[in-house]
Amino acid sequence: MMRLDPLPSIATTLPAQLLTVALNFVLPPRCASCGVQTGSTGGLCTKCWIQARFIAAPQCSQCGYPFELDFGEGVRCGPCLSRPPYFDRARAAVAYDDRIGHIVIAFKHGDRADLAPGLAAWMRRAGGELLQDADLVAPVPLHRRRLFSRRYNQSSLLGQPLARAAGIPFIGDLVIRQRETDSQGHLSPAARRRNVEGAFHVAAHHKDMLKDKRVLLIDDVLTTGATVNAIARRLKREGARAVDVLTVTRVVRETNVS
Ligand SMILES: [Zn+2]
Repeated sequence: MMRLDPLPSIATTLPAQLLTVALNFVLPPRCASCGVQTGSTGGLCTKCWIQARFIAAPQCSQCGYPFELDFGEGVRCGPCLSRPPYFDRARAAVAYDDRIGHIVIAFKHGDRADLAPGLAAWMRRAGGELLQDADLVAPVPLHRRRLFSRRYNQSSLLGQPLARAAGIPFIGDLVIRQRETDSQGHLSPAARRRNVEGAFHVAAHHKDMLKDKRVLLIDDVLTTGATVNAIARRLKREGARAVDVLTVTRVVRETNVS
């Protein structure tokens, strides 16, 4: 079975290793996508691994959209050229499809927080350069009501181990979602942009330290990028030098319409 190694900082101590062994005995790890028994927690079975479309260069230097052909360094896709996003770079580990959607839904809504280390390991591979350049890591926030009903912010579960492994601060409450936005799933790109306009602000007690910082925003899925774009705009208005975005997965359409 193919496996994803968890981040080194997670299971380096003996008690943690013993706990993992004990857990694997009681609850054998299963493929994060199809559920068949695998060799490691948070991994995919060989069949699902082969079918996953991991994203790598060549890609748009800004939004990370994968290109069929290598046009050279620093080339941007049509939508990024015609309507440049506020974020500087976005990278995602894997192209969104039904299998990945299944994993993300289980992670987000199905109390499968145990998938976080495996997903974070994917993200670290896709976003190594972004992590290296970042001054701090922050999650895309949930509104407090949604956080209460869901009990955890999935973006924080991904961002914390990434920041820890990179040795940079994780600031969970950097951005506040001040308005509960409608679920984005059914909305058109223009409606998504309107939906998130003015929905975010920077926590007052973090504003001073944001000046000239390069922020790495963490989320699970990048669809049109409307949410992270709205946050990047806000962070830059408050003094951030640059904003990058790292997600588990992104939608890859035949034509990159954002
Ligand atoms: Zn692009």
